[in-house]
Amino acid sequence: MHQNSARKKIWPYLLSFAVILLIINSVFFHQKINPVVFLGFFLSNIFIFSFLLKFYSAKILLIQSGAEHHQEEINIIAVENKKNQEQTKALKLKITRYDNLKKLIEELNRSLKLDTVIGVLSLAVYKLISNSTGVALFYLVDNQYQKLNLAHSIKEDTELVVLSKEGDIFDQWVLRHSSQLIIEDLKNDFRFDADSISSQDTRSVLSLISSPLISNNSLLGLLRLESKKAGFFNQDDLRFLSLVADLGVVALENSLLFQKTQDLAIHDNLTALYTRGYFIDRLKDEARRTQRLDQHLSLMMIDIDFFKQYNDKFGHILGDLVLKKMGILLKDTLKEFTPLICRFGGEEFLVMLSGVDKKKSFIIAEELRQRIQKEKIMLRRQVTHITVSIGVASLSLDTKDEDELVQQADKAMYTAKEKGRNRVCLI
Ligand code: GH3
Ligand code: MG
Ligand code: MG
Repeated sequence: MHQNSARKKIWPYLLSFAVILLIINSVFFHQKINPVVFLGFFLSNIFIFSFLLKFYSAKILLIQSGAEHHQEEINIIAVENKKNQEQTKALKLKITRYDNLKKLIEELNRSLKLDTVIGVLSLAVYKLISNSTGVALFYLVDNQYQKLNLAHSIKEDTELVVLSKEGDIFDQWVLRHSSQLIIEDLKNDFRFDADSISSQDTRSVLSLISSPLISNNSLLGLLRLESKKAGFFNQDDLRFLSLVADLGVVALENSLLFQKTQDLAIHDNLTALYTRGYFIDRLKDEARRTQRLDQHLSLMMIDIDFFKQYNDKFGHILGDLVLKKMGILLKDTLKEFTPLICRFGGEEFLVMLSGVDKKKSFIIAEELRQRIQKEKIMLRRQVTHITVSIGVASLSLDTKDEDELVQQADKAMYTAKEKGRNRVCLI
């Protein structure tokens, strides 16, 4: 642009000067002056003209190179400007993210429930990193089986189903390496075979970031974000995800501990059945609900026959094993009726069957009694058997009060004892 304008400035002057010279020369030529004088005059004109031409050409070149230099500077400034704009944008994004980090910590501090903690962490990264697009997944590690379990997912496409509930090869990679993972473009990532992956799940993934939640060298879970677009995530995103994951570790540990404490409070530590207190609370709620809906509710009080003798013969420790076995037998035999089972005391168990009437409860109790009687229990390389006496009572029919219902089932169980044990009695 500068070169052109310089040329435009000079060329009209040079041209008009040349025209003037031409006119003067032609005037001289017409006046028929001495040809030698005319030639001399003409040559001197050409000399002046070429001198001027050379002078201005040099000047033009100077202006041109100056203009080129300026253009280069402009280009450099433009590139720097673009870089600065990008840096400012990235910085603004960082500020927004770190501002939200404060809120996230406050939110995590407010909650001890495992589900809430997992939900809060997943939503935070989904919003702040993925801009509420793609998919966010939270896996928890099942330490007993050393596998992953999908604990929470947030999906842009609500219809989408995540089939890999125990994680896919990316999650297995994070589990194996216990380190973060970034895939910028799956098609160009030599670590994974893109074709085999697309056949494993219905959803398409081209880029992802994943960070493990590690506490004292043990993996608690992993937090993963994915996108259908290639190049959606960068190293900054991965850094932020890891930061959230690190914060999540403390919150997750607290909530796991809280859950464990709660579990211990409501579960009997020998049989892993519910405790009496928890059972009675749930019975109250369920009794109210079933009465409101005019549904059935039955109780079974189960007591092991002559357990004292059993203890005396085999010792208390083996007696404990039998109680443990009873817990497993009760859960297994009654599982289709989704019962609530508690260890009511010593060798007594209480079962709540919601939605089951008295007649049906009697049949279920009878089948249970027979199953327990048949069960072979190996103690000191000896096959032994136990029997139980069961009392059955139903809400509404026998009483409307849940405390009284427990007493009624107990009474029915004592009737079974009196009648010779190893039997089921109704109130
Ligand atoms: P019954 O047929 O009349 O029920 O006779 P029983 O011997 O089962 O009843 P009793 O009430 O006389 O004795 C209950 C026994 O249960 C006494 C106690 O040693 C045993 N028991 C209670 N709690 C535990 C426990 O936690 N572990 C073990 N091993 N035994 C227990
Ligand atoms: Mg007893
Ligand atoms: Mg007993």
